[in-house]
Order: sequence, then structure tokens, then C-alpha cells
Amino acid sequence: MEVKTSLLDNMIGVGDMVLLEPLSEDSFLENLKKRFEHNEIYTYIGSVVISMNPYRSLPIYTPEKVEEYRNRNFYELSPHIYALADEAYRSLRDQDKDQCILITGESGAGKTEASKLVMSYVAAVCGKGQEVNKVKEQLLQSNPVLEAFGNAKTVRNDNSSRFGKYMDIEFDFKGDPLGGVISNYLLEKSRVVKQPRGERNFHIFYQLLSGASDETLKKLKLDRDFSKYNYLSLDSASVSGVDDAANFRTVRNAMQIVGFMEDEVQSVLQLVAAVLKLGNIEFKPESRSNGLDESRVKDKNGDWSLNSVLERAFSYRTVEAKSEKVSTTLNVAQAYYARDALAKNLYSRLFSWLVTRINESIKTRHKVMGVLDIYGFEIFEDNSFEQFIINYCNEKLQQIFIELTLREEQEEYIREGIEWTNIEYFNNAVICDLIENNKNGILAMLDEECLRPGTVTDETFLDKLNMICAQHQHFESRLSKNSKFLTDHSLPHNCFRIQHYAGKVLYRAEGFVDKNNDLLYRDLSQAMYKANHGLIKQLFPEGSPAKINLKRPPTAGYQFKASVGTLMRNLQTKNPNYIRCIKPNDKKSSHIFTESLVCHQVRYLGLMENVRVRRAGYAFRQAYEPCLERYKMLCKKTWPHWKGPARKGVEVLMSDLKVPAEEYAYGRSKIFIRNPKTLFFLEERRRQ
Ligand code: ATP
Ligand code: MG
Repeated sequence: MEVKTSLLDNMIGVGDMVLLEPLSEDSFLENLKKRFEHNEIYTYIGSVVISMNPYRSLPIYTPEKVEEYRNRNFYELSPHIYALADEAYRSLRDQDKDQCILITGESGAGKTEASKLVMSYVAAVCGKGQEVNKVKEQLLQSNPVLEAFGNAKTVRNDNSSRFGKYMDIEFDFKGDPLGGVISNYLLEKSRVVKQPRGERNFHIFYQLLSGASDETLKKLKLDRDFSKYNYLSLDSASVSGVDDAANFRTVRNAMQIVGFMEDEVQSVLQLVAAVLKLGNIEFKPESRSNGLDESRVKDKNGDWSLNSVLERAFSYRTVEAKSEKVSTTLNVAQAYYARDALAKNLYSRLFSWLVTRINESIKTRHKVMGVLDIYGFEIFEDNSFEQFIINYCNEKLQQIFIELTLREEQEEYIREGIEWTNIEYFNNAVICDLIENNKNGILAMLDEECLRPGTVTDETFLDKLNMICAQHQHFESRLSKNSKFLTDHSLPHNCFRIQHYAGKVLYRAEGFVDKNNDLLYRDLSQAMYKANHGLIKQLFPEGSPAKINLKRPPTAGYQFKASVGTLMRNLQTKNPNYIRCIKPNDKKSSHIFTESLVCHQVRYLGLMENVRVRRAGYAFRQAYEPCLERYKMLCKKTWPHWKGPARKGVEVLMSDLKVPAEEYAYGRSKIFIRNPKTLFFLEERRRQ
């Protein structure tokens, strides 16, 4: 058996960073670059797979490749995402261990593609038969549906996921897929009403307008022309290489395979249309005798203005003051705010409903393989509530990564009877605590501000943060009142900075309170509930007269923290497999390697830390048999045939070669080698 030769081939760089000698950030980057230039897009750090986006289709995902990697040991062949998928699938099938596959990386690095490659590999190698094939189809076809509603063109990625996704695929005892459960995280709903320059709204809007038949559009009272809709940005309506009309057919077909009834599909499309039309409602001021400006719906055409309940909800707002209900009028700005809030809520609730509906089709409960495709660490020029939440999630993932990697190492050492040596590493629990602590964490303080009576602004929130967090070593603010905690004069006054494990991020406090509140005036929920439409009613349960006195819904931050908590508990119970995605350049090009950009990502993904943890104990380990097989030629006593147990043979070999005893340890089934140099020494001798 050829072991790891491909991992040591110098021409194309080393296939496992653990074997990199000397180890430094420069050599790490150099190695990635060399491999990228040879189309070797996968590199290991032990069992972690680094995946570099090739920005072109490589012939490495063929059925032949699937066969090649099927049932082979992880290190036997050159690094590939299939090796990881195979390893995870076989441990699940043969050792009954639930698995999870954690895919991280920045926007455009290839996470979603990686998750689809894993899914399609597993689909290709697991059971056959009509029933099983139907399940596989349903699982795979959930992707185009969710991508249509949850992905959009951004400046970084033409098909950027604007939500996080975790999917458990469930298998029976034979390893045949039975179904799955999808969880979604934090859809970027602000995109529904406004998109940054050069970006689009969610794909489905364009797909519907381009791909639906004339008859359907007529029924939905829609116009094919994108430019008729305020919510669709004009400067980038069509994307080169993307056929919205063809994708619409793919999505319709996928919805059918997943199990949507025709009337459900119609309802969904009606809601998509409703959002577009909401965006076209305009308001004008109307002066009243009391001198206040009140808003009125400007143009009485379209379906929405026919609904007088909704029209009223755009003009008035009911507030409860001391158990008394008071109606106040909305001015024009408030009416627009209400309109956009409604559109965002309608769309994001529709999205959650889609996920629930898909789950109904695919749900069961057996041994599972989870695939997590979630936004990586984000540091933009301007970081707001969304980045804060995303980075919090990555902080948690890093925490679990460290915990699980160390646990796995420890377990292997115990299994193999090797003495455990403590590993020094940076524990980011303090940063998680700074954010999520129930008493004085940033999220708790934000909630407290949002729920507090009186005037609440981003400023009062920031003041509070400054007061309470200033002593925290990972929190930086510009404090004017209490100079003792003044940490950084250069910070703009409305910002705070957190020192995340992956780097410092400056957050602008503006909008935190509003985004966390995520308020929809009650009158609007009630108007929606009264709408004569089954699905809309279902999406706004709090508008029901029976629920009129319910407390306000939980804040966005609270909900996210809860779902991250559930995710972490879920991942804790599984055996982790990691894919770390990196993009080589900002140009979507297949032959540019921008070192500074890659360096950035290597840092944010904590990859150097990763190698160090892996190397801290023993860098390399190998079962006795393949080890003896490979190196027996280096010793007369073991060549050409060793009679006796493989372990004994390896012992003879090592002492004969005079490898210093502290450089290795004998486990029950494997030899553990401390330093990669020892391995290079052995390899060198083989070549002589
Ligand atoms: P986001 O966070 O924005 O969702 P992402 O990490 O999910 O980004 P992808 O959508 O998976 O990024 O990848 C972006 C694009 O890069 C793909 O549309 C595809 O063109 C290309 N790409 C990614 N991985 C591969 C691959 N293995 N082979 C070929 N092309 C790839
Ligand atoms: Mg994606």
C-alpha cells in the first residue's frame, strides 16, 4: 500500500500541513500557493480538509473519482473532499457514530459547493433502490429551493448564501438514507427591501419574473419588467452566466420533487408577488387640522390598497399606554418604515415556512450526518449587527472546534495507551462569554436596552456597553466619562471593538437596537392575520385576536443565541469533520493567488493554531502494518519478510535505525511520531 507519498511530494507541496517543515505562516502560504498552481485544491491539516476555490470546473468529481476514494483510508490517496466524506460516511455506517461536517470560510470561498459535493458523494456511495433513490432526490433537491429563496448575487459571490444552513441527513442501520432535518439561521432579510450597490435581491424574484408563464404572471398581477419594482435594484438586474428563467423551472421542478402540492407552490408565488407589490406602495403626507402630518397611501391601484385593513395599518399605530389603547397616526417616514418592516417579515417568515415544509417531507429519526454551511468570520469596512451575530457564531464554532479536536486527540491517546501531554492553546471562551453571558454579556445588555421603557437609542446602548464591558480585555471602547478604562482614542465615538480570536473587529452601534428589536407594529400583524389567504394567516399567528395580549416576541439576538445554543448541543454529540474553504483572489479568477488575501483567511480561520494543536503532541501516526510495509526495506532484519507481529517489526526497525526514543511512542495499534523530521528522515532513507 502506498502511504502518504502524495502527501510528501515536494513538487506540488506537502499534502498535510502537519508535515510542513519549518512551520511558519510564510511556509504555510507558500505551500497553499504551490498546490493551487498545480490544481491541487485540497490540503490536509491532519484530518481537517482545506479547500481552495479553483474558480473553474476541475475533472476531479467524476464517478471514477468517487470509485477511487470509496472505502479507502483517509491518507491513502491525495487529499480530496471525497476522502473526508468517505471517512465520515463509513464511521457512521460501520461504527455507528453520528457525524457532522463543519464547513467554514468567507463569502465566495466555496462552502456551499463543498456541502453539495459531500452530499452528492454520500448519495453516490450509499444504498440503491427505488425508495432510497427517492429520499436521495428529495434531499438533494432541497438545495435549489432554498438557494432560490435564500441566495443572492453579491459583490463577492454571484450565488451567495444569505442564510446559514445546517442539515442532518439521517440513515438506517445499513447506511441507507432515510431523510433529514434542516435548520436555518438568520436570513439577511434587509436585502428584501434594499440591496447594496451592484448586488441583487434574492434570486426567486428575478426567476419568477423571467421564468413564469404569461398566464401565471397575469394571475399574480405582475409585470415581467424588473424595473417596475422598487425592491429590485436596477444596476445589476441580470447576472452574466445566470439564466433566471431556466433556474425558475429547476426550482419549480425541485419543489415538486421535494413534495410541495401545486396549491402550496401557488401560495408561495403569491407571497413573493405580494412582497414585490408591497414595495410599490407609496405614501403622501396629508395635513390635518391639529397640525400633524399623517400619511396616506398615494396610489390606489394594485391589490394591496384594496385591503382597507392594511391601508389603515399603514396610517395608524396602536400603542398601549397604562392598559389603555391609544391610536397614533404615522407620518410618511413611519409609514415607509412600516411597509418595509412588513415586507421583510413576510419574506423571512415565508423562508422559515419553506424550511419547515421541506422538513415535513424529509423528516425521520435515526443515525445522522449533519452538514453545516454557514457564513465565516466577517470583517468589513462597516460592521453592523449582522456581522456581530455572524462573528459570534464563528466564535462558538471555534470553541467547539478546539474542544472537539482536543477531545478527539485525548480519546485517541487513551485508546492507544499513550501518555497525555497537555496542549497549550488559546481558549476563546472569554470572548464567547463577553457576548453571550446571561447577566452582562453584550447580547443581554442589548436586550435589556430594547425592553427598557423610555428613550432607547444606539447611544444609550453604547453607553451601557462602555460602562459594563470596559474592563473586559477583549472589549475596546472610547470612553469619555471614565478615563480609567479608556483603551483607544482612535475609535470613532459611535463604535466599539471586539478582539475576536480571528482578529479585531470594529462595530458601529448604529442600528443595533432597531435590528435587535425587529419590531412589526401590531396593527400590521393583525392586518396580515385578517388577510384572506391561508399561508399569510399562518405566517402571522401573533395577529390573531386570541393572542392580543401576548408579550412582545423575543428579540433577534435572543433568538439567534438560542438557535446557536441548540446547534452547539447538537454538534457536541457528533464526531466532527472539518472543511475550511479559502478563496484565492477577489476576481473570481482561476489563476490568481493573492497572497495577502489568502493570508487574511488563514488567520481568520485560525489555521496556524489548528496545525499547532495537531502537532503539539505527535504530528504523525500510522498503523503498524502499513508502517512496516513501507519502511521494512530500511533494515536487514525486517527485509524482505518479517515474521511475527507488525508492532514487533516496527520496534526492531526503529531501534535499528537509531531513531531517538523520545521521538516516538508505541500505541496499541499505531506508532506515534512526534516530529515531522523523523518522518522525512525515514522517507529520505527510502529514496537512497
Ligand atoms: P457565501 O458565503 O457567499 O455563500 P460560499 O462559500 O458558499 O459563499 P460558493 O457559493 O460555494 O461560496 O462558491 C462560489 C463560487 O465559486 C461557485 O458558484 C463556483 O463558481 C465556485 N466554486 C466553489 N467551489 C468550487 C469547486 N470545488 N469547483 C469549481 N468551482 C467552485
Ligand atoms: Mg454559500
